[in-house]
Amino acid sequence: MEGYATLIAGLLALLAGLAIGKAWERYKLQEGRWIDRRRSRESPHYILGLNFLVANQIDPAIEELTRAAQIGGDPLEIRLILGNLYREKGQVGRAIQEHQALLQRTNLRKLEHASVLLCLGLDYKRGGFVDRALEAFQEVLHLDPDNQYALLNLEKLHEEQHQWDEAYATRQKLARRDEAPAQERHQQILAFLETERGTQAMKRADHAEAARRFAAAIELDGGNPPAHLNLGDVRLLQGDSAGAIAAWERLVERSPDRAYLTFSRLEHAYEQLGARERYPELCRRLIDANPQDWRARLALGRHLSSQGNSREALTILFDALVHNPHALALHQAIWQSLSRLQLPPALVNQYVDLTRDAIFYLDPHICVRCRYRSTELLWQCPHCHEWNTFIEERIAPAKDTEATLTS
Ligand SMILES: [Zn+2]
Repeated sequence: MEGYATLIAGLLALLAGLAIGKAWERYKLQEGRWIDRRRSRESPHYILGLNFLVANQIDPAIEELTRAAQIGGDPLEIRLILGNLYREKGQVGRAIQEHQALLQRTNLRKLEHASVLLCLGLDYKRGGFVDRALEAFQEVLHLDPDNQYALLNLEKLHEEQHQWDEAYATRQKLARRDEAPAQERHQQILAFLETERGTQAMKRADHAEAARRFAAAIELDGGNPPAHLNLGDVRLLQGDSAGAIAAWERLVERSPDRAYLTFSRLEHAYEQLGARERYPELCRRLIDANPQDWRARLALGRHLSSQGNSREALTILFDALVHNPHALALHQAIWQSLSRLQLPPALVNQYVDLTRDAIFYLDPHICVRCRYRSTELLWQCPHCHEWNTFIEERIAPAKDTEATLTS
């Protein structure tokens, strides 16, 4: 019986504690008055403010949220949002002021403190105050070591500064806090960062270090094209042409869609080795594996034309043109072959028929994340700073795929 009473007493104490905690959370003493924290969130100004926010109308959102904050005794979360809205408007100074004022508050809980610092870091980043932004994000991590947003922003800042070692270490921390399914993406990004570290070593002419870095990048992600490409280049500089060929051929094998990056390198290296025939063989293998591969056709066409076989070259180049009528390089190669043959009218007419509706530009690529357009392949998007998001932008007549989509 006594045990039962103790249990009841314990439960009552627990409930009382919870109630006091709830009240404490809801009310707060400000300038001698108890203020209901919920009032700000129940006010029509708060709801209106959020509605404007959703509709992306920043000025009225600021107005309503400011009123909601005044009614509710300036709750931290609303002032935090207001500061962020000023930043979005481009009023970075005002945003910094708002967020710095929050840091002066007493009794900030640890995670609240971290949130304020994170917002402040974003203000500094937006304003171009790189050192202060770095400092703010590092302070966030001091309070909240797993803060993903701080880590991501820190990584991007280091990348912008070309501080590849620091960017690499930050990405490792991001990877450590994630589960298995996300690891592949982390490995891919680490491979790009490791490749950048290798490129830095290359600039210092430290070839051994560079080769180690590129090999490590391949270890992280066997499909990383610039790692293979650079590994081949550095081996060539070290006088190891067989090793260079092996690295480039490995790229062809692992990422056939990027095989074309090795073409001029391999053509030259095979030639040096006295094994010129390996180059057209490689092109034909790629075309057989992927009939859409216009770049392998272009390479083969150019090679054949340079060997005096312009007729066969033209057949292959015309095939390539069907797959990508906008590639300027193809048109140039075709005209070279046509002039070598003294412009036979039948072939010139065939070309004119094939290209009637094409519009030209250089070598268009597009970022799949932000739609940024580039006239060449880039490994990191200069607009959204994501890694490996560029694909070729082709405007060719769609065949069966479109038929399946519309049916
Ligand atoms: Zn982008």
